[in-house]
Amino acid sequence: MSEPDLFESENSVLAGARAVFDDPQAGAQAYRDTLGELIGYYERRYYERLMRETRRLIRRSDREELEMNRLNHRLQDLARELEFRATRDTLTGALNRGAIIERAGALLAEGSLSLIVLDIDHFKRVNDALGHPVGDTVIRGVVHCLEKSVQDAGVIGRVGGEEFAALLPARSLDAAVELAEGMRLDIEQHVFPVKAGLQVTASFGVSWSPPGTTFEQAYARADEALYQAKRSGRNRVVSLLEGKLVVPLH
Ligand code: GH3
Ligand code: MG
Ligand code: MG
Repeated sequence: MSEPDLFESENSVLAGARAVFDDPQAGAQAYRDTLGELIGYYERRYYERLMRETRRLIRRSDREELEMNRLNHRLQDLARELEFRATRDTLTGALNRGAIIERAGALLAEGSLSLIVLDIDHFKRVNDALGHPVGDTVIRGVVHCLEKSVQDAGVIGRVGGEEFAALLPARSLDAAVELAEGMRLDIEQHVFPVKAGLQVTASFGVSWSPPGTTFEQAYARADEALYQAKRSGRNRVVSLLEGKLVVPLH
């Protein structure tokens, strides 16, 4: 099959004009008619071509705009995913140590902060008796309990292997101790899907710090309280009030 001649109509109009030009007998009216035909034809053809070209360009730019929007959304998704990965602990999905330090610093620059740190009691025994994967499941279960307790009051993070922190902006020490007590009970009563009868407990240290405190200072206070919670028998909440440790009597 032969290719269609794209310029067939142009050629035929041109051939008509040439025939008139070559005809020595052709009069002024024939020249005029041919010229008129040429003008009319080219005007119409150019207009149609222009419209066709314009529509094609509009379609193309619409397609490219859609593609650009799609890429933009993808880029935003990737940026969010990257930010999530950079700030989250892979085992539990809780904030990682770096993110906790950064957020605590930002919160302390603006206001007071109550900080809860906790550490699972005798966790080594869980690992030794039941294996590391079971230990991992326990860690996830503990984070679940913490998230349930904190809700909108603040954020929680995994700051060490089996050590966690909760940042509670603009909360009094009493309110933070009460919240930690709730967490403690929740962990104690939680049924871990690993071994019937497995009981897990954790010890808690709570501090309150005024605005302008560094994260290290706030953390050192809570850690000192946590150390006392371990020393005084574990599975308890100890707080540090104006430099004095408040140890529950049980
Ligand atoms: P204490 O009551 O004094 O806190 O005793 P402990 O046994 O909990 O403390 P210790 O620091 O001796 O042990 C912590 C254990 O936590 C040791 C380490 O193997 C384990 N661990 C740390 N990170 C992980 C983890 O990601 N997964 C598991 N399964 N175990 C971990
Ligand atoms: Mg421990
Ligand atoms: Mg520890």
